[in-house]
Amino acid sequence: MVVSQSSAVKTCDLLAGGKWVSSKATEFSNVYNPSTGELIAKVPMCKADEVDMVVQEAQKAFPAWNDTPIVERTRVMYRFKGLFEKHFDDIARSVSREHGKTFAEAKASASRGIEVVEFALGIPSLIMGECMENIATNVDCETMRHPLGVCAGITPFNFPAMVPLWMYPIAITCGNTFVLKPSEKVPLTSMLIGELLEEAGLPPGVFNIVHGGKDAVDGLLTHPLVKAISFVGSTGIAKYIYEVGSKHGKRVQAAGGAKNHIIIMPDADMDLTVQALQSSAFGCAGERCMAGSLAVPVGEAAEELMPRLVESTAKMKVGRTDGDVAPDMGPVISADHLKKVRSLIDLGVKEGAELALDGRDLKVADAPNGYFLGPTIFDKAKADMSVVKEEIFGPVLSVVRVETIEDAIKLGQECPYGNGAVIYTNSGKTARQFKRYFNAGMIGINVGVPAPMAWFPFTGWNASFYGDLHIQGREGIQFYTQQKMTMTRWFDSKSSGKFQDPIWKSKNTTK
Ligand code: NAD
Repeated sequence: MVVSQSSAVKTCDLLAGGKWVSSKATEFSNVYNPSTGELIAKVPMCKADEVDMVVQEAQKAFPAWNDTPIVERTRVMYRFKGLFEKHFDDIARSVSREHGKTFAEAKASASRGIEVVEFALGIPSLIMGECMENIATNVDCETMRHPLGVCAGITPFNFPAMVPLWMYPIAITCGNTFVLKPSEKVPLTSMLIGELLEEAGLPPGVFNIVHGGKDAVDGLLTHPLVKAISFVGSTGIAKYIYEVGSKHGKRVQAAGGAKNHIIIMPDADMDLTVQALQSSAFGCAGERCMAGSLAVPVGEAAEELMPRLVESTAKMKVGRTDGDVAPDMGPVISADHLKKVRSLIDLGVKEGAELALDGRDLKVADAPNGYFLGPTIFDKAKADMSVVKEEIFGPVLSVVRVETIEDAIKLGQECPYGNGAVIYTNSGKTARQFKRYFNAGMIGINVGVPAPMAWFPFTGWNASFYGDLHIQGREGIQFYTQQKMTMTRWFDSKSSGKFQDPIWKSKNTTK
């Protein structure tokens, strides 16, 4: 094991050409257990030279992997799925330890990741080309999908297993080799997965890991051998990745941040709504790109919703996720992030939003150094306030009360993001109006978090996505492949170039 689950502080190695290699970096970033504030690993901040070393190994492995029959490539994924399931709890524990998710949340996220492997097992049927016979006399035409070469994935801290899994199972099964640059805040789970891919029989160099921050990312974005970049992270960086990657001739899919609106109609089932809204806003401590971070009750819905939501949320248990007692919510990722979320709450108060539930003073007795914040709710917030406009990415729910569904749709039009949006209603007409006109790419109707399963693309809009082909699903296969069209003509020298149907010929000569 390159990274053990033990309490000793490890330095993370790179995975290059099937070997775990110590980095030559001179700078390291600390990885903490957010539940305790304890240092658990050091991650090298690699520069362009180490990125190049890893990319060269991926490039070396590409021709043989590309020539490996697709059924054999798929079988590696099949064995990987088995190993992933066997080590499922270890992976979930690693996610929990470096990110702070509760064990249940970590397991749920790992399960969503496995779905992508299951999707990848169907790639032999999905990657097939098209053909048409006799498009002109004696001329046939076909298209085939070919891999691109070395593809790179740059991932955020909030889903250490799941988000990288959105990328490499599809890229690799399509015949590409892959370089993963995990978040420097959560590099350990990716390393466990690198070990499992090796054990599954993936040839050396097909899956590689380089660590670091901006320098490593820039090394990938500008490397001539990297053909495609998949990115998931905040909007500012997603835009940067798209611009720099495209300028250097790469395909780019870059998923960014979000502010997901949750509309509650007066006719909604309030029991379902309170429960779903609470888990959407505060699950994973609000650190989800699909978190419902802005509630928009319409008309008298607010009167029924708000007291019940505040009462129920106030009962949530917040605590360490590596202990014996499972809390409802864990810590946020880092001391810096805790400070940032607190200051955004302070700003909300200053701007005049009504603090219906204040989590700022929460203390966790058995983990005084953890990065904890209680669930926080702002009521009667206004459209121009920071807590309404900004992605807070913490356990903070803002509530904007509106009069009509049209007002709610208008508020959505003003939002620069466009990841997800949900409506709670029992009216088909209102649901249809919302589905058709709301300004977001992933819509939920009476569904907590409408994050699509692996068979569908992750269709963020506006500042939540830069690129053309989204992550996951068939778009994922299209992203990681390029088409080759072949037009073929064979001549029959005996009949002035033209082939004749032998049956037609025999029928006509016996007459
Ligand atoms: P982040 O943008 O800070 O980091 C993401 C990746 O970019 C990391 O690997 C990091 O090392 C790298 N990076 C950071 N600064 C960089 C720079 N200046 N130049 C180049 N690379 C840089 O994001 P995060 O804080 O790790 O994750 C949270 C964000 O990710 C949130 O905004 C969340 O909404 C978003 N997210 C989006 C989706 C989605 O599907 N749309 C999914 C998960 C998370």
